[in-house]
Amino acid sequence: MSKLPKFSSNKKYWMHLNRLVFGESCQCPSCSRVLQERYVGKYLWCPVCRKKYRATAWRGSWLYGMKLRPKQLFVLLWCWQQKKGPEVATLLAEVSYTTVARWYERFRSRVPDAVPLLSQLVQIDESYFGKLRSKQPQRIVVGAIEPHTRKLALRVTDSRSQEALEQFVQDYVRQGSLVVSDKWWAYEELPLLGYAHESHNHSKGDYANTNQGESIWSVSKRHTRRLYGGRILTRHLEALCQEWMARHNQPQLFESPMTFLQATLVPC
Ligand SMILES: [Zn+2]
Repeated sequence: MSKLPKFSSNKKYWMHLNRLVFGESCQCPSCSRVLQERYVGKYLWCPVCRKKYRATAWRGSWLYGMKLRPKQLFVLLWCWQQKKGPEVATLLAEVSYTTVARWYERFRSRVPDAVPLLSQLVQIDESYFGKLRSKQPQRIVVGAIEPHTRKLALRVTDSRSQEALEQFVQDYVRQGSLVVSDKWWAYEELPLLGYAHESHNHSKGDYANTNQGESIWSVSKRHTRRLYGGRILTRHLEALCQEWMARHNQPQLFESPMTFLQATLVPC
């Protein structure tokens, strides 16, 4: 597990942000002249254009409008990457609960899309999310994992119908692969679509090839409980599925705050 990043001073965090947003040599976006750092006023100065620039007031970056101190951003980002609950993040970053929730959503929305295509042996399973006795309807997530690489595909769906599940397989699994599922009837015609198919009966304690399938849900359910106490909103579930996929398929995004910022803050 990576440690909480500790740069020597607030100024260091600020300088890191400038370099992430304006490029390694910190050049003026209009005239390419190297910008001067004025830490006291918290801005960058272009002596040619006679203009101030700020990493958090630059429309090209998703930090636009940020009111956090740069250090708080790094701490919040680290907490999100390490799956810390909102209570811990509130304490470490010294911000309110709503600020934590808002920034977690913001990080999630910046995760770059990467549609995985699973192949060879693929395990598939469905799970319900949301509390049984809450007003929110329960949602179904269908998931597929390639056990030898841990590559993961997830989709929120309203039904376990044959149509929905076959579409999911066709979107995420290469034809010719072996799909291993539970005994649910909706998978039975996969061979007609060009897949090999094996099923196992969970209720009889037959978990032969699906252990990995079970572990997808144990990790994500624990994460959901820590973040929302199990009461999960639909819009959160969609975004969380994207995040869980990224945690499996693009692990470098979660190595440290710098790796995430480098991947998502493309210099202007
Ligand atoms: Zn300039």
